[in-house]
Amino acid sequence: MTNAITPPKLDDVCPRCGGGFHCGARDARCACCDMKLSEALLKQLSQQYERCLCLRCLTELQAVEQRSERSSQPAKRP
Ligand SMILES: [Zn+2]
Repeated sequence: MTNAITPPKLDDVCPRCGGGFHCGARDARCACCDMKLSEALLKQLSQQYERCLCLRCLTELQAVEQRSERSSQPAKRP
């Protein structure tokens, strides 16, 4: 008898990309809790979407925000 590890059920649909994912917010913890998203970004997301986004989109948005922050600020010199 094989004890196959069952993949998490993709019971949520990401409102941004339409992809299936599983939000862990109803479980012990969600992977997105480990993400360091800025308050501005979280606020924007909660206004834009009613549901959680998938981890892929969160990672993407985080990268985009960091990139734009960096380019909009002049290089800091210590
Ligand atoms: Zn997504």
